[in-house]
Parts: sequence; C-alpha cells; structure tokens
Amino acid sequence: MGIVVQKYGGSSVADAASVKRVAQRIVATKKAGHDVVVVVSAMGDTTDELIDLANEVSPLPPARELDMLLTAGERISMAVLAMAIGNLGQEARSFTGSQAGVITDADHGRAKIIDVTPGRIEQAIAEGAIAIVAGFQGVSQTTKDITTLGRGGSDTTAVALAAALHADVCEIYSDVDGVFTADPRIVPTARRIPQISYEDCLEMAANGAKILHLRCVEYARRTNLPIHVRSSFSQKEGTWVVPAESVEKDAAMEAAIITGIAHDRSEAKITVVGVADKVGYAASVFSTLAEASINIDMIVQNISAAATGLTDISFTLPRSDGAKAMEALTRAKDAVGFERLQYDDSVGKVSVIGAGMRNAPGISATFFTALADAGVNIEMISTSEIRISVITAESQVDEAVRAAHAAFGLGSGEVEAVVYGGTGR
Ligand code: ASP
Ligand code: MG
Repeated sequence: MGIVVQKYGGSSVADAASVKRVAQRIVATKKAGHDVVVVVSAMGDTTDELIDLANEVSPLPPARELDMLLTAGERISMAVLAMAIGNLGQEARSFTGSQAGVITDADHGRAKIIDVTPGRIEQAIAEGAIAIVAGFQGVSQTTKDITTLGRGGSDTTAVALAAALHADVCEIYSDVDGVFTADPRIVPTARRIPQISYEDCLEMAANGAKILHLRCVEYARRTNLPIHVRSSFSQKEGTWVVPAESVEKDAAMEAAIITGIAHDRSEAKITVVGVADKVGYAASVFSTLAEASINIDMIVQNISAAATGLTDISFTLPRSDGAKAMEALTRAKDAVGFERLQYDDSVGKVSVIGAGMRNAPGISATFFTALADAGVNIEMISTSEIRISVITAESQVDEAVRAAHAAFGLGSGEVEAVVYGGTGR
C-alpha cells in the first residue's frame, strides 16, 4: 500500500491526552500497512500565545525573529507526538520543516514553498519509521533563515509533502467531520458535503469558510492530489476535495446548484467620501493602497450626485490592514483629493457558492429575497462566475447565513454535524 500523509490541526493535539489519542490513530494507519507521514500544527492556541508574547516585548517584532519564535510551536508538538508513538511501540522520527526539505522564498510570515526535497522523510519511511513533520514552516533558499507560511499554513505543508512524496491521499484532520454546507455552529442542520471540487472549495476557503488553507487547495488542484478533510475525533468519512469531473452526483444531489454558504467576519469597510467624479481619481485612491501593500476585496463606486460632481468609493479589506489603510489614505488626502474617510469594522461577508450557478438563472433573486425576508440589509454586492457575496452588518451575519442556507434548500432536516473541540481562535 502507498503513502498516506496525515495532518493534525492544533485542536487535535491540544493536550497530552489528545496527543496520545492521535498517536493511536497514526499507529493504526501504519499497522493497516501504509507508510505514514504526519504533519502537525502547534498544540491548541500555542501560536496565538507566542504572538501575544512577542507583542509584549516589542510593538513590532522583526519578521525573522517572529518566524523563529512561531516555528517553536510546531517543534513542540512534533517531538511530543513522536514520543507518544514511540510509547506505543512504533518508531517515529520528527523533522523540522527545514529537515523535511521544505524550501521557501524569504518572505517571512507568508513564505511560499518553492521546492520540496523530502530525502530524509523518504529514508525514514523506507526504514519503517513514521515521519512526523513540523507544519507551517520551511527554510529560505536564499537567506537560509527559517520561515513560516502564514497562519493555518500546516495544511499547505501537508499537501506539498504529499505531492512531493506521490502520496495516495492527504488527510487533513480537524475538529469537524468535514466541509459543511454552512458553519454548523451557525446552522446546526448544515449537511456534510461528501465530495467537493477544488474550485468550489477554493471559493469557500477564500470567502471565510475555515476549512482549509487557501494555498493548500491551490496546491492540491495543481497537482491533482485528493484531500480528505475529516475529524480526528471520529472515524466518520469526511469530505473529499477532488477534481470537478470526479465529483459524483447522486440522485439527491443532482439538482444542487449551490454547494454551500460561507461567511467571513475578518473584513472592514472603508468609504472615501467626496471624490471628484473624474478620470483618474479611483486610480489614485487604489494606487495609494497598493503602495501600502493592502489587498482589496470588494469595491463599490456610487454614481455621482449630478449637482456636486462628487462620488463615494467604498471598499473592503482585511480588518488587520484597516489602520494601515486609513493612515495611508489620510496621508494622501490632499494629493488624492477627497472630503473624508469612513471606517466600519463591524461588517461581515456572506457568500453563496457553487459552480452550478453558472447556468442557473435567478440565484441572486433567491439570495436577496431571502435576505430581505430576514430583514438583513445589504451594503455591498460582488459576484464571480460561481459566487455571489454581500456585505452586511456584522450583527446580521448569522441571520443572513441561516436565511440563505434555507432558501437554497441546503439543510438536511436533522443535526449531522458534531463540533468536537477547539476554541475557534
Ligand atoms: N500553528 C499555525 C497557526 O496556528 C499553523 C497551523 O495551525 O496550521 O496558524
Ligand atoms: Mg493553529
């Protein structure tokens, strides 16, 4: 039998008891005849705690040192897990990202994997050991410094390793039984999606569904690697993320045009009030933001009030970049030419996702009618071929998710999802 790569998230290895439970699961896979490579995240909320610690000693920790600090979280869990497996009578060897051959660029805090040379992992499994790899980290090809791949990056480590090792599957374990039609914490009757295409999964992940790291799905799509998202707390079959053409449509699912509803509370909205409605003004607003390296999500420009010749431009961006964007725009106020700025960080985004909507009329009408009936006010709208997103008040996000989920008939009529652990941090 082939190689199985298993990735365990922080909530699956939160304490000694959890580590022992996961060790048993790994040993069982090994005993079933597979070569097993495990990628592990930092225990529980360790990464957040390390970030808090860094911020206590420095307002702006140097990126190189922050990466060195954060990678320690995964080093703890990999060693502890290797010990627990050893205690069950199987040999396990832990490796840092660098030892496992995860080569990245030098962009600290969000490094990209440029190559994986897993010679030591191959050797360990050839010798019958279970290889445990620290997730979310690598080593820069140019500077030789230790890097991290960005929050949640262990998923990407797992997929990249699985691809390099030509594994049969990459199993991603967390504290939910797979990908659901909506967050089961908001919609208890959300259904588990048995199979989802890479593209629908990418839209779900990009629009706030905290299922998989976005880049891990991109990586899997490029290499056609199947991902099995499942819970480490149960033996249940989870969600298979596979090429669109392999998604089986059973009779009940045939009519499913919408795959799921995603939501995101991590964005803020900025309105630039009183911009001249003339050529080049939007360009200068967004050039200012680009120079500050700020990623924009949705943009809406209203038509100018004829009398004033002025217009408003609203856009959304990651809340974590809100202060930086306000500063950059304030500094450029005279150069750009606008009246004032409005900042709103109590907004949320709700998205309806499904490749099936490409050929289905009336999806927007159904979505917006459901929101209206639920009394949810829409502040902004954006669409892609396979997604419709709206911005609403943050306090109305749950209501909007429930209304959309019901309107598209996504519920299962019973409570399927079990949320096993985790703090959701
Ligand atoms: N421990 C890191 C984080 O919390 C990486 C991961 O969990 O994938 O972001
Ligand atoms: Mg984590």
